[in-house]
Amino acid sequence: MVRLLDERVPRTLDQLVTKLHDSSFRGSRVQAWLFEDVEERRAAERTLATAGVHARFRSAYKPLVHFFLEELNLADLSQVTVRYPVHNAALRQRFLLEAYPLAALVNGAEIQFIAGESDRSYDIEARDRSGQSHEYRVFAPNRLRTDYIGERALSPTGWLKVEGRPDNLPNIDEPLETEFELAFRKAMAAISAHRWPREEPYFDVLRVRVETPGIERRLDIGDECMSTHEALHEDIYFSVLEFCQRRSGRAIGDRRLQPGQIVPEVRRSREPRVIVELQSHACHDDPRRSNVPLEAADAPMSLPQVHRELALLGGQAFSGLSRQGRPVRGAYWAGWRPPILLTAGQHANETSGVVGALRAARRLLERDAHFAIIPVENPDGYVLHGELCVDNPRHMHHAARYTALGDDLEYRTEAPWFEKGARLEALRISGAQLHVNLHGYPAHEWTRPLTGYVPRGFEFWTVPKGFFLIMRHRRGWAEQAMALIEEVTFRLAQSPELVAVNRAQIEAFRAHSDGTPFTLYNDIPCLITESEHGLTPLTLITEFPDETIYGASFRFAHTVQMETVLAVEDAFSAMMRPAV
Ligand SMILES: [Zn+2]
Repeated sequence: MVRLLDERVPRTLDQLVTKLHDSSFRGSRVQAWLFEDVEERRAAERTLATAGVHARFRSAYKPLVHFFLEELNLADLSQVTVRYPVHNAALRQRFLLEAYPLAALVNGAEIQFIAGESDRSYDIEARDRSGQSHEYRVFAPNRLRTDYIGERALSPTGWLKVEGRPDNLPNIDEPLETEFELAFRKAMAAISAHRWPREEPYFDVLRVRVETPGIERRLDIGDECMSTHEALHEDIYFSVLEFCQRRSGRAIGDRRLQPGQIVPEVRRSREPRVIVELQSHACHDDPRRSNVPLEAADAPMSLPQVHRELALLGGQAFSGLSRQGRPVRGAYWAGWRPPILLTAGQHANETSGVVGALRAARRLLERDAHFAIIPVENPDGYVLHGELCVDNPRHMHHAARYTALGDDLEYRTEAPWFEKGARLEALRISGAQLHVNLHGYPAHEWTRPLTGYVPRGFEFWTVPKGFFLIMRHRRGWAEQAMALIEEVTFRLAQSPELVAVNRAQIEAFRAHSDGTPFTLYNDIPCLITESEHGLTPLTLITEFPDETIYGASFRFAHTVQMETVLAVEDAFSAMMRPAV
């Protein structure tokens, strides 16, 4: 183990309270924006009031949503107009997106969003139920920073404003680097400064542990949650990945990069601390997840249970081997219908497809289907997801998405194949021409507040927009692709629950974006693209917003995944049956 950094970082809220107790602030009016939960901010305000300082501490993260929650009576609103800031160094929709999910929060009040004149403040007109109109200006503290790949990004920051100080002391109106920003900066600086080997992988495991106060606030809309801890995990993971991409000479976003396994662990603590360590691979099991009956699984299953459920199905076993030495297990049945390949867990933090695939396999066997299944293609990521969920079960944990080599196994183009070996073997023995690849995406907003707020390269996937299908087909297969999408969406739309969930999510997404860059078929958003990238002529990718859901929502997710497999296998079988 090599430790690159172990440092305590002062908590900004405590520093501020100490500073403002000084007589040079007595009687002044203070406003500060911090990455702290409301209870901590209110307690600090009360402490300062006893010292004669009138302080208002606000959230630097999603300031508009926090303003509505903390300073307005949502139940009394009848009509709201929000003029959102537009800044020339950010996407035009950046602050509209940061206002998400306000449209769904205002209890049915009429709300409209208009691009405003300001570049750092929201202007709001709110009419209450008695017809009275009120105007507000909500400051969104942001500053331009150069990130670790040399890009300029407009990012949320702490801020301090002080007026009315004694003895004509000057006002203060300036950014304030908080512990949230400082912990990230220190971790990234330590990683940037390290002497890395020339060749990938650069490390076995790079662990970044951050203990920090922060915001963790669930909202009463779907699975929505505002979490600076989760956002910090995302920003560390993707920033390290981008740093390594740049270092390797690859393009940003190149999924073939193999830096090693990046593990950000972010925990709540009153005393901020940041630790960066290099570790060797440890292949331990995933024992913390409970055993659950397949149909009733209300949480992701453990890897040992996945393998037991697969073994119970029988079939001809085959396997690959992961980077950390775990088996990638699969099974094959030579039925009489046209062969398909069914996989899940390529991205291991997308867990509903794993249960859905196993449930679908049981049903496919009843109809004597011809198929191969790999329920968890990325076992190292899957075990890491289980570990990360111990502290933060409701976070999306993208660090568990790729393999322990740090790449996306689908994009591996040469040996050693490791995890992808199982997929290649499944295609060889089955001869499948259709690959049904079960995926998921975040069930609540995904942000990177330290590097421009909107996750770079994933701008399309930041907000849930329903159960989604992606159909990739080779040239010459467009007609079949279209027919499958029409048939599968028609069958899925027989579920009123799915239609209702999709409509609600798409409506909330539309209110915070400028248009819908997908086509709806039977209330299901679909993207159909021609691509020579897949290993089969037809690839159907499912995208259920499943990252972070549990209970009935999780059961619904794996039921939809299963129903999709059954519908597409049926439609494909009918399509490929020779005409008589
Ligand atoms: Zn995925």
